[in-house]
Amino acid sequence: MAYLTLKNVNKIYPNGFHAVHNFNLEMDRGEFIVFVGPSGCGKSTTLRMIAGLEDISNGDFLIDGKRANEQGPRERGVAMVFQSYALYPQMTVYDNIAFGLELQGADEDYIDEKVRNTARILGLTEYLDRLPRALSGGQRQRVAIGRALIRKVGIFLMDEPLSNLDAKQRVTMRSEITQIHRETGATTIYVTHDQTEAMTMADRIVVMKDGYVQQVGTPRELYFDPVNVFVAGFIGEPPMNFVRDTVSGGKIKIGGTVIDLSKKLGSKISEYEGKEIVFGYRPEAIVLGEKENAYVLPADVELTEMLGDTTNVYIKMADVQSILKVDPHDTPEVDTGITFSIPYENVYLFDGKTEMVIK
Ligand code: ATP
Repeated sequence: MAYLTLKNVNKIYPNGFHAVHNFNLEMDRGEFIVFVGPSGCGKSTTLRMIAGLEDISNGDFLIDGKRANEQGPRERGVAMVFQSYALYPQMTVYDNIAFGLELQGADEDYIDEKVRNTARILGLTEYLDRLPRALSGGQRQRVAIGRALIRKVGIFLMDEPLSNLDAKQRVTMRSEITQIHRETGATTIYVTHDQTEAMTMADRIVVMKDGYVQQVGTPRELYFDPVNVFVAGFIGEPPMNFVRDTVSGGKIKIGGTVIDLSKKLGSKISEYEGKEIVFGYRPEAIVLGEKENAYVLPADVELTEMLGDTTNVYIKMADVQSILKVDPHDTPEVDTGITFSIPYENVYLFDGKTEMVIK
């Protein structure tokens, strides 16, 4: 049985704003789930409803199969880490971590053992006597996590915990949080707007937009099998390239080059005659030069960005702009013409109206 279940959960704020629509999810014990989506999509609202900090307007939230809508945060057994670390500035790291247990009236030896154990997991042992102001942002965030972890809770919630850190610290903390999750096995829900965090940390990702769940899946499923244009464009960096055109004679044009979609869709393309279609391909899913079983396209190189391990090539095909990701050794010259191939299997087609993937 699922450990946490959300069944048709909705949030309508008192001002009438419908922030979350029919959210459905079943989570197993120990899973690491990431809610991802652009600002305002309802991630934090959903997390806060799970935490018990926000009422559920309608729908059910179950813990271990029992309805928990009416339970407070403590009864639910949740701990939460926020974007702002909210540490007590006048207390040492030790006291900050110990605080929750002290409030519960736990005995001193027990607290000491738990604090030292938590500090060891988080690599904070040598900082226990310091005040928060004498720590780096990453270390402060680890203290905030330690404070949440020390209480025995079933559900660990994190709302954009890395957004106050610089890019380098974020990368380090990402793997640290994954490591902490592996060691503690706590069922975790993590909110972020950063698809890289979602892809690198999650067992499963919930992609949200405008209060609606778009897709739930493993990072692999979302990358290779996006259900719609939004998910396809949200997951992956640089994002998937999209070209819209109306199907005529089973074909569309990409910057002047005629593309025969029956090569990809077979006879099914006839259903889309006269309709708009979205042709999608990932920057990295191309081959330079002419290949078989692929759409071959000429393009002009406008700009290149050498990143070290890859080069992003910004191209133009008449009025269509795209990005290709190539091996840095194959970086083309700016203002020259190139030819590239998109293997049929790497092409995604979406219905122009519903934006849903066509299989
Ligand atoms: P962000 O990444 O910016 O935090 P989010 O996906 O977490 O975004 P939420 O904070 O869940 O988004 O907000 C979802 C929507 O609900 C937003 O449009 C927001 O303006 C609205 N909202 C949030 N809190 C309230 C409130 N108390 N009353 C009315 N509307 C609210």
